[in-house]
Amino acid sequence: EDALDLIEEVPDFPEPGVLFRDLSPLFGTAAGFATVVDALGERLAPEVESLAAVESRGFLLAAALGYARGIGVTLVRKPGKLPSVAGRIDYQLEYGTETLELPAGTVRAGGRVAVIDDVLATGGTAAAACALLDQVGAVVTDVAVVLELAVLGGRNQLPDVPVHALRTL
Ligand code: 5GP
Repeated sequence: EDALDLIEEVPDFPEPGVLFRDLSPLFGTAAGFATVVDALGERLAPEVESLAAVESRGFLLAAALGYARGIGVTLVRKPGKLPSVAGRIDYQLEYGTETLELPAGTVRAGGRVAVIDDVLATGGTAAAACALLDQVGAVVTDVAVVLELAVLGGRNQLPDVPVHALRTL
């Protein structure tokens, strides 16, 4: 998939020593954006009923995917943004903890939900999103990302769910 060559490498962002993958040029190009949305859509399980989008670049992908498929999108948010919360999870990052919240009244128990984000790195974020959905009784059908940084072993955090990546580095 040549469109994926639009992903840029940015050294020392957001911290010295980190090589950040910038998907902005990919998302910002008509053919690039359409390519990734279509390709992700093809990989999702047929029974998916809604999408859980991880803040914030997951929102962009899931909005287009959900519209194309005719299903709803739930925003998995950083703390303090939601007026009413169905669930909350804290998870460890390399330094410190992070929190994700799920809005109340969005995902039903037994609902089949796919988790959408731009990049799978250590897998902490995607695993937390899955655990959050599990808390409310949803069934996670897939985790779908554009880019997987395999050296960080994110897939190992997600042993029980199919993980789809359009490109693996
Ligand atoms: P993880 O929790 O798997 O270590 O990190 C994944 C989360 O951090 C995703 O929400 C993703 O948006 C962000 N992330 C981590 N590394 C990168 C990167 O190199 N590029 C981009 N665009 N996002 C990243």
